[in-house]
Amino acid sequence: MDKTTKKSVEYGLSSYKDEDEGVVSEVRLKRNYSPLTILSMAAVLMATWEALSSTMVSALVSGGPVSLFYGFIVAFIGAVATAASLGEMTSMYPTAGGQYHFVAKLAPKKWQYILSWLTGWIGTFGWVAFTASAPFLAATMVQGLITLNSESYVFQRWHGTMIYWALLLGSGMMNIWGTRLMALIEDASLIIHIVAFIVVFVVMWVCAPVKHSASFVFTLFQNNSGWSSDGVSWSIGMLSSCYVLAGYDGAIHLCEEMLNPAVSVPWCMLGSLVINGVMGFAFLLAILFCMGDMATALNSTTGFPIIEIFKSVTGSPAAATAMTCTLIVTASLATIPLMASTARMFWCLARDKAFPFSKQLSKVSKKDRVPIWSVATVFVFLFILGFVNIGSTTAFNAILSLAVFGLHVSYMLPVIFMFWRRLCTPEILTYGPWKLGGFGVPVNIISLAKTVVSTIPLNCLGDIAFNPPLSPLRQPAIAKGHINKGAKIHFKLKDTGPGWFTTANSSDDSSYVFAFSDHNGTQASGPSGTWCIGFGYNGQLMDKKDYKHIIDRFHDAIHPTANVEAYATHDWMNDPYTKGAWACWGANCASRFLQELQKPHGRVIFATADWADRWRGFVDGAIERGQQAVKNTIAVLKNTSRSSL
Ligand SMILES: Cc1cc2nc3c(=O)[nH]c(=O)nc-3n(C[C@H](O)[C@H](O)[C@H](O)COP(=O)(O)OP(=O)(O)OC[C@H]3O[C@@H](n4cnc5c(N)ncnc54)[C@H](O)[C@@H]3O)c2cc1C
Repeated sequence: MDKTTKKSVEYGLSSYKDEDEGVVSEVRLKRNYSPLTILSMAAVLMATWEALSSTMVSALVSGGPVSLFYGFIVAFIGAVATAASLGEMTSMYPTAGGQYHFVAKLAPKKWQYILSWLTGWIGTFGWVAFTASAPFLAATMVQGLITLNSESYVFQRWHGTMIYWALLLGSGMMNIWGTRLMALIEDASLIIHIVAFIVVFVVMWVCAPVKHSASFVFTLFQNNSGWSSDGVSWSIGMLSSCYVLAGYDGAIHLCEEMLNPAVSVPWCMLGSLVINGVMGFAFLLAILFCMGDMATALNSTTGFPIIEIFKSVTGSPAAATAMTCTLIVTASLATIPLMASTARMFWCLARDKAFPFSKQLSKVSKKDRVPIWSVATVFVFLFILGFVNIGSTTAFNAILSLAVFGLHVSYMLPVIFMFWRRLCTPEILTYGPWKLGGFGVPVNIISLAKTVVSTIPLNCLGDIAFNPPLSPLRQPAIAKGHINKGAKIHFKLKDTGPGWFTTANSSDDSSYVFAFSDHNGTQASGPSGTWCIGFGYNGQLMDKKDYKHIIDRFHDAIHPTANVEAYATHDWMNDPYTKGAWACWGANCASRFLQELQKPHGRVIFATADWADRWRGFVDGAIERGQQAVKNTIAVLKNTSRSSL
């Protein structure tokens, strides 16, 4: 970015001064839209429940119902936290560029321009791929319906591309010449998006001849992904949900066309997520309960399991066709706001001279102040993508999968820098009217976390509710726990003496196992008494305040003549964060549970010493598991970013 860009970033880009031509001309869009219209556009372009009907395949293959159900919940929490974080930044810097402007403002000075440029480009091309996915879904679903209804139809990829191009053309024309109708169309699209959902949802619940059991929906995990690790497979399945819950930042890119964006945009993003999240979740439950035989659905000749599911639910190809048409209509309508948002990103980058032909691309039409050149450029890019599909649908899908990557990179970078600023230089942050306050740090963290490392001890693991639940073999391991109820007591004896080690006589009912002297005072003070450590038998020295019992038994079992001046210990058994002393396992437990406990659980990676291979229950074991957790985390992150939908 050049000098002008630096300046415009500095001023939040609500206006732009063309210094090259020596004139001061403002490039602004018309504030055409109400908050309701922006909410409608963001909600319609996300099209969560419609998109789920296609992306669910990946989740079902990678983990089955459990991957789809719990993956959606995790992805939704992450998306809400990310949207809230981005909302707070939009309130500080309300510009159509969004993420790359946030990075320009918040990244370290030395890196801000290159990082901002990268964020802008990656985000913009993520948006191009994201925009292509809706008309492509609609086009290929039309082909799926023709296959369903006509046995003689021979599927050809170019047919799909032709329909895709037609949808692009309609959306492009709407974006250039139909802006006055845009508010009406988007508000109507939101109504269609919701009403179509209600119709499809009710038909599925009412007509499904048989429904799966709750255990099928909530506990069936099937790894058919080809990955040997269930955790990696589950994470890949979760990409389906990440994909359908992305795109809420469309509201940011349209923010220069609405009044009061500093307050309205954050609410529009969260609103669009809640609307789509609720409908997506309900639709997902309907699919899982009513889908019939999973293998039949996944092997549908139409290419779309959802068409097969609609057919098996209603028992009629005609009804399945009508239901699928609602998906085709809403996916087609989503293309309009998708193209609008992507064009605004191009336009904003051009305004900041981050593109070739920036001067042309940043122009807006005189009458309606629409960035027509940017809309046309987006159209051309999307049109060219259509040729890729004619050559290979796999290559086309690979490009589409870039959408998840591009969008999430553009979300993560500003959140990372906001988090860093909040912790290290909070004084430079000037918040807008919409801010997260005390929730800022945890919300930034939740939106960033790709994995969670848990060091919760075995005996405390039962206190944590996991969604999805921990594997069946982990349950008895947690219920049994480890069995160490021993005690470690530090004594101060009056007399100074040479070192000793005493083993208690195990033939009587000794409370102690053994004890040994440790030292005779610090080097500075010189010899002064004896400090020693005694280890108690399981459950024998439980009351740390019962000094008479602790000292009497010490005399009986270890040192009859010791003059005990003081002792220090801790009640590990009743400590809610340990529920026992250092881990010692009962008979047969290691052979049954060790390997299972060491496995990651989805994106949760366990690092406790309690199930180390070596030095279990010791600090060395904690280090071993910590090192392993780092390796597992790197593997999960690598595989997540490498995989495609
Ligand atoms: C009395 C005693 C003496 C020991 N002596 C030695 C020794 O001499 N040498 C040696 O190598 N090892 C010794 N150990 C063992 C060693 O301390 C542990 O093995 C090691 O600290 C375990 O490390 P960790 O990271 O796995 O778990 P920890 O260090 O126990 O960390 C677990 C964390 O999880 C937190 N937690 C628990 N429940 C929850 C919850 N519900 N929510 C959130 N957080 C939660 C806890 O507060 C804690 O911070 C001793 C242990 C004890 C109890």
